[in-house]
Amino acid sequence: MTDTSSVVDLHGRPLGVLRLSLTARCNLACPYCCPDSRDPEGMLELQDQLRLIRVACSLGVHTVRLTGGEPLLSDRLEPLLSSIALDRPAGLKELALTTNGVLLSPERALRLKRAGLDRITISLDGADAASLARMAGLHGGAKAGQSLLDQVLSALEAARSAGFDPSQGTLKLNAVIQKGRNDDQLIALARLARDRGVELRLIEYMDVGSRNGWSLAQVMPALEMVQRVTSHWPLDPVGRSSSSTTSRWRYRDGAGHLGVIASISAPFCGDCNRIRVTADGQVFTCLFASQGVDLRPYLRAGEPETQLRERLSDLWTRRSDRFSEERRLRGDVDKPHAEMAYLGG
Ligand code: SAM
Ligand code: SF4
Repeated sequence: MTDTSSVVDLHGRPLGVLRLSLTARCNLACPYCCPDSRDPEGMLELQDQLRLIRVACSLGVHTVRLTGGEPLLSDRLEPLLSSIALDRPAGLKELALTTNGVLLSPERALRLKRAGLDRITISLDGADAASLARMAGLHGGAKAGQSLLDQVLSALEAARSAGFDPSQGTLKLNAVIQKGRNDDQLIALARLARDRGVELRLIEYMDVGSRNGWSLAQVMPALEMVQRVTSHWPLDPVGRSSSSTTSRWRYRDGAGHLGVIASISAPFCGDCNRIRVTADGQVFTCLFASQGVDLRPYLRAGEPETQLRERLSDLWTRRSDRFSEERRLRGDVDKPHAEMAYLGG
């Protein structure tokens, strides 16, 4: 999906996706992510977020993904969706949400659908209770893990009942796989997703943030994940569509698709169309950047929207970062990065 009016960066990449974080806080504490316990000062107001979305869409953004931290912790979520629905910016094709599902009750899922949300991705890093508890940073062992698993599986069904349809790609599951930590969950997760008719996307553990103690040794390359799954259920390659993060595979037995996100082993900077804005209005053009640019001076009420448009357009047209590809070339893994839950993934 590329809009002809998109601004284009120094590598010829058109802007297409805005990932907007609603909060840096989370109700889980996944050790690979290490979220903040409080929100930063100077959070964006609803009107700021609406302005930002409007202007981003005028520069080519066709998809807005709401994220966090845990976006369902934000009481801004529904008002934001409803306000967008009232005056949907031209060019905006899709509104998506990434969530851990803990707070996704049937009522909330229905409210989100009615407010105009198009798709939901739910994260789940294990099918076994004890393993899931470890991945989510829960202290209560298998009992806590089982309760989380029940919540997430209920969330999946709540989303489905509300009209998010896995067969249409509007409901998916995400799992981060960390070698030596939850790679033993791969097959069970694939089975769980296949049984429920949902596409599972296996994500390589990324060196985002500086708190998680990332090392290359903990990364299971996407191809290895695919090989493991294919030895249970044969897969055929489908490929990666332009600007997508996901390489897709089709189960030969007709049970749908599996996706892998190979940000480390096979970076896709070459057609990255994503811009990220944190809950306090810092814009990042790369997930692996250490610093953002403060948009708040341009978002304040009273400032002409043209200034924000110029600032964003200037940022994108000067963009040259391709950190993940450069890491591969230089073997450079020691740069400090902003934290994932702050950036929003
Ligand atoms: N709390 C929500 C959730 O977990 O879905 C939304 C925010 S979370 C930061 C967005 C996605 O980033 C999740 O799928 C999460 O698993 C993934 N993620 C977080 N840290 C990661 C890391 N170091 N490497 C790879 N994926 C990561
Ligand atoms: Fe929370 Fe999502 Fe980070 Fe886990 S990955 S701690 S659920 S923000």
